[in-house]
Amino acid sequence: MTLVGNYARFDVEFVRGDGATLYSSSGEAYLDFLCGLGVTNVGHCHPAVVAAIASQASSLLHVSNLFENEPMVALAGRLSSRTLGGGVLFANSGAEAVEAALKLARKRRRGGNVLVALRGFHGRTYGALSATPQEAKQAPFAPLVPGFIAFAAEEIAGAVDGDTAAVLIEPLQGEGGVHPIDPSVLRAIRAACDERGALLIFDEVQTGMGRTGTLFAYEQLGVVPDAMTVAKGLAGGLPIGALICSPAVTDVFEPGDHGSTFAGGPVQCAAALAVLDVVDDPDLLVRVRDLGERLREGLRELPYVQSVRGLGLMVAAEVSVDAPALVRRALLEQRLIINATGPTTLRFLPPLIIDRSHVDDALTRLSRLA
Ligand SMILES: *Cc1c(COP(=O)(O)O)cnc(C)c1O
Repeated sequence: MTLVGNYARFDVEFVRGDGATLYSSSGEAYLDFLCGLGVTNVGHCHPAVVAAIASQASSLLHVSNLFENEPMVALAGRLSSRTLGGGVLFANSGAEAVEAALKLARKRRRGGNVLVALRGFHGRTYGALSATPQEAKQAPFAPLVPGFIAFAAEEIAGAVDGDTAAVLIEPLQGEGGVHPIDPSVLRAIRAACDERGALLIFDEVQTGMGRTGTLFAYEQLGVVPDAMTVAKGLAGGLPIGALICSPAVTDVFEPGDHGSTFAGGPVQCAAALAVLDVVDDPDLLVRVRDLGERLREGLRELPYVQSVRGLGLMVAAEVSVDAPALVRRALLEQRLIINATGPTTLRFLPPLIIDRSHVDDALTRLSRLA
């Protein structure tokens, strides 16, 4: 054994990907309705992303953050102007983007608490894990970072006080099982944060980059955060993360406060610019909403599905059977890639470039598992 056993892996090896299809080492085609874990939103090996990576890689791979590089500056400008209008801080992953958000919130309100939602997920590093109130993930690694308090989402607004540095919340909880947070709950949290001078930080690592049918989920929820984290689909498969700030919090960090060797590298930023060209497209985003509806409608017809939820192409189904066993059968018997976020919860994160035929194909494969 040469790999540490921190993952339960399937015994299938993929050697090539194209759009919504992955090809195994034995030459079989699989329909990918998971996208890594919500990463390859533009499909596998999207030609524009591949071309951007190849072109950038042949001119400049790395310069460190002692200098600017053109793709980084262009990407920051594009993310900022499309969202909160302030500065952008790059990282290499979702958890690192969350770490930056937590450090920013604590520096702004020294010693302050961070309120998080039950069922939330923010990553595996110590700060991000401390913000992830799931017993099984936290318990083996205690003691965690102090100052994190978890509440049911509906109770967060009432808990915000003068000691609250920030509320950190996913507008639609991903790893926790695709649980939407009611917009009225988010509005109440927004109002409480405004009243008490706390930051509202949205973790859009999974919901961002078109996944829910708008470029970022907050756009359709009517609540604008003070800062937000983005990662997963941002660079189409290369490691990247970003903390996007509103103008009011852009100046919290000063030189020396935070940093990363690789963050904002030209190749991943060039890839992200190419991804944005694809997903920040009104026609594609309408299609994401329509196809999500079609997928949810089709899932409701399956005999083992009890209920469905989600936004756009971020969808979960509650099933009356063992979800991990069904995921395994979908993979091995139907060559359909999905995952389970819990014992009875299936999750679907298909690429955003699919059409109706892919949705219908996935539903046909799932119907054969009944
Ligand atoms: C996946 C995820 C993270 C962690 O991202 P990594 O790149 O795995 O560190 C953080 N927040 C949310 C909402 C996520 O879905």
